Amino acid sequence: MTILKILTYPNPRLYKIAKPVDEINKCHQDLIKNMTHTMYECNGIGLAATQVDFHERIIVIDISEEKNNLMVLINPDILERTGSQEYQEGCLSVPQIFEKVERFEKIKVRALDQYGKYFEFEADGLLSVCIQHEIDHLDGKVFVDYLSALKRNRIKSKLIKVQKKKLINNEKKT
Ligand code: ZN
Repeated sequence: MTILKILTYPNPRLYKIAKPVDEINKCHQDLIKNMTHTMYECNGIGLAATQVDFHERIIVIDISEEKNNLMVLINPDILERTGSQEYQEGCLSVPQIFEKVERFEKIKVRALDQYGKYFEFEADGLLSVCIQHEIDHLDGKVFVDYLSALKRNRIKSKLIKVQKKKLINNEKKT
């Protein structure tokens, strides 16, 4: 298994809209395995294919403490949305940043599993937040897009500075 490289905000590739998966093939299966491995290794609770620069509609999620409750959602659709909740969100593509975002409280979701079978379920609380956050990635949206322009620009410059520093350090090493 491979740890995939995660795109960091404000990389423009995070704004690409992912295409629906036509047929689940070996390449998708391998991608799902590597995405799951990457999510667990990075201590994330969700990862969208967009974040690893693969632009088809695939999400992996596991909100359990024990990392033993993996959900794979392919071509996910939100069928119903009710209520609202606010949650302090973070993102593997926006490292070290946590901000409150308002989302729907309860959602009803339909998706294909990794074997190509449709399933439907209701989610609330953290799972609901996580699914909405990951589907946003597939639609080319990052959670900081919900914040004020002022906050977003502050985050953007901070992350660009960090990335430049990393580049300089890497150059020194070679
Ligand atoms: Zn994210």
